[in-house]
Amino acid sequence: MTKINIIGAGLAGSECAWQLAKRGFEVEIFEMRNENRKTFAHRTQDFAELVCSNSLRSDEITTAIGLLHQEMRQLDSLIMRSAEINKVPAGSALAVDRDGFSKFIENELLNTKKVKISRQEIQELPIDSKEIWVVATGPLTSDALSSSILKHTDEKHLAFFDAIAPIIFKDSIDFSKAWFQSRYDKGSGFDYINCPLDQDQYQEFVDDLLKSEKTEFKDWEKNTPYFNGCLPIEEMASRGVDTLRYGPMKPIGLTNPHFEKSPIGTPLRQRKEKAYAVVQLRQDNKQATLYNIVGFQTKMKYGEQQRIFRKILGLENAEFARFGGIHRNTFINSPQLLDEFGRFKKFPNIFFAGQITGVEGYVESASMGLITGIFIANQINNSTKKLSRPSNETAIGSLLNHIAPDSEQMKVTQENSFQPMNINFGLFAPFKNNIAKDDRKEAYSTRALEQLEIFKIENNIVE
Ligand SMILES: Cc1cc2nc3c(=O)[nH]c(=O)nc-3n(C[C@H](O)[C@H](O)[C@H](O)COP(=O)(O)OP(=O)(O)OC[C@H]3O[C@@H](n4cnc5c(N)ncnc54)[C@H](O)[C@@H]3O)c2cc1C
Repeated sequence: MTKINIIGAGLAGSECAWQLAKRGFEVEIFEMRNENRKTFAHRTQDFAELVCSNSLRSDEITTAIGLLHQEMRQLDSLIMRSAEINKVPAGSALAVDRDGFSKFIENELLNTKKVKISRQEIQELPIDSKEIWVVATGPLTSDALSSSILKHTDEKHLAFFDAIAPIIFKDSIDFSKAWFQSRYDKGSGFDYINCPLDQDQYQEFVDDLLKSEKTEFKDWEKNTPYFNGCLPIEEMASRGVDTLRYGPMKPIGLTNPHFEKSPIGTPLRQRKEKAYAVVQLRQDNKQATLYNIVGFQTKMKYGEQQRIFRKILGLENAEFARFGGIHRNTFINSPQLLDEFGRFKKFPNIFFAGQITGVEGYVESASMGLITGIFIANQINNSTKKLSRPSNETAIGSLLNHIAPDSEQMKVTQENSFQPMNINFGLFAPFKNNIAKDDRKEAYSTRALEQLEIFKIENNIVE
């Protein structure tokens, strides 16, 4: 039976190994952590260590993450099985006893007698190997392997401070205050959503940013550069009260249609249709359900982001698909480098899985390991049959579509602005019919689970 090599015994690597071992394949996992060596975040040498929170987030099926849990259960996920067994009380969230969680995963894998663990760092991308490899080395991929990946990808950066701007659901924006317009009506003329601030509101906003609670950098993070020199907005604000107003919040070229035009000759400051500053949001996904706040990468704590950004006119009820943040991360430009099944285009015997592909979160990383295991098994077992992916109407399929878009048009958009993502309904294929807002979450779940069954039937998966 073909042997598969997996680099990294984290969430993605462990789940991938399980999917392969239970289908009868021999798996060797290479893990650099051992008794003496850990990473900046890992405390143990355990399999699938949860490096921070012990929560796998909401388990409610009407949330995108809860739906992802359920899809993984239906594909016999080891991570989900362990979570169930090691569950601790946490309301509607699925939280676990982290040590028990890791131990169960390790025992189950080793009990298959198909999985071997080699405590060893892989320093070079195995481009000369004829065997199949899965790179599942996560956000803290070792420096040596990161350099090797860089060498083979021509990407300038691989590890950097990832400056992430918050992303908002469009249908939570109040368009009686916000409006669509591109600066000077360029492009379609309506490419951005604009939220106005008058002088007092702007001053209060800057004061809020300066006083807000921020996440502190850890010692090991201090020497890592910012990506593209992106500065957090609160740092910009600290350089002078007008810095933001001449930067990402500049109001020029925009006219607020909610106010009538003032007569010609009215001084600019008195013309209500000309805002003092503007917050702009740019479309973030092809479905136009998500919009990111332009230039608003921030280190503010999540609660502070919600409190301060909801003071902005039009965003009072904003729902966040993702909060802004800055943290060290390692991920590749997957839409450019991987094919639709997660194979490295240049060396198709190498798959990438987990957080390094540009998904964000424990469960998301594990789910990409899971689907990679299925793809590899299908590729080997049915070498003449074309591989198939779960539909973009499922949670797993829509995450996969984020890192490896199935349409050329989306691929080009993604390649240029690729950023890691948690699962959220904005990534799912839109509905063909109009569905009332209150019914939408349930409809996403019903549709996804039906589509997952189709994928299972097509791929002879009986769980
Ligand atoms: C500090 C920090 C906190 C986070 N907190 C959360 C959180 O609270 N909730 C959440 O959902 N997500 C969190 N994440 C994000 C992410 O979900 C986790 O990092 C998750 O563990 C990613 O899964 P993975 O399998 O891709 O990587 P990992 O679980 O990190 O597994 C990768 C494995 O590869 C090994 N490895 C790396 N390089 C090599 C090499 N060259 N050779 C051999 N082995 C190697 C590592 O030791 C590690 O065991 C956090 C990330 C970080 C960095």
